[in-house]
Amino acid sequence: MASILITGAASGIGAGLATELARAGHDVVVSDLRLADCEAVAARIRDGGGSADAVALDVTSEASVASALASFKRPVEVLVNDAGLQHVAPIEEFPMNKWDYLIQVMLVGSARLTRALLPGMRQRGYGRIVNIGSIHSLVASPNKSAYVAAKHGLLGFTKTIALETAGSDITINTICPSYVKTPLVDKQIGDQSRTRGIPESEVIKEVMLKPMPKGAFIGIDELAGITGFLLTPAARNITGQAIVVDGGWTAQ
Ligand code: NAD
Repeated sequence: MASILITGAASGIGAGLATELARAGHDVVVSDLRLADCEAVAARIRDGGGSADAVALDVTSEASVASALASFKRPVEVLVNDAGLQHVAPIEEFPMNKWDYLIQVMLVGSARLTRALLPGMRQRGYGRIVNIGSIHSLVASPNKSAYVAAKHGLLGFTKTIALETAGSDITINTICPSYVKTPLVDKQIGDQSRTRGIPESEVIKEVMLKPMPKGAFIGIDELAGITGFLLTPAARNITGQAIVVDGGWTAQ
């Protein structure tokens, strides 16, 4: 079973992926800015009979990445770039330092971790990189310029690294879900309610679920199932792809 490093795994999708992938028998490293929350996630996994370690890892810091990597018991075979955050504001009111930070976490951070782990993957002849993109890797929504730019950028990064790693059993793909009910989305519901001047219930119904013909939030189990599949030999030629999980949003 693979050793899997997941960034941004103290919460939401990352924590859910760690839990589900550990349940499937993989060794997971739960990493995030928030070490205490990582330790809680890892402890719950171990209590359930899984294998998990926790480590503090800030994807925007070269030193933090280096010190986290030095602490691992097993070489990392699978990297899941999940760390992310949202900020909702029209461009004229979007603080530039926030804009920069979103790009640093979701785009540059994914590149930093990939760059750090690829040499080991190449040496061992196997590697899987799974980026958590978004429906906003493919389409835009107003007031999310930094997020949409970062998530679109991730697809270009994915294609480039797929070409750079094509000579070995290494793949890189980006899973692009529409809305998943996590703390990040809960915060957006409040933010969008304020910026659009509508009640939270209307944000869920009219903004989040309306573009999805299936009309339901995406489940973390779906993202874990796709990630698990990407680790298998059957997925060895799936690389450089955007794997879209959007309830039919982009079919319209
Ligand atoms: P979340 O807020 O629950 O989790 C994000 C985690 O990333 C947090 O624990 C946070 O501490 C961590 N993080 C932020 N900055 C970091 C940094 N510099 N270094 C390390 N960790 C950092 O959010 P989530 O909904 O679980 O989102 C996870 C990923 O999924 C994000 O990349 C997000 O863009 C993406 N995504 C979420 C949704 C959704 O609807 N929730 C949809 C599509 C894509």
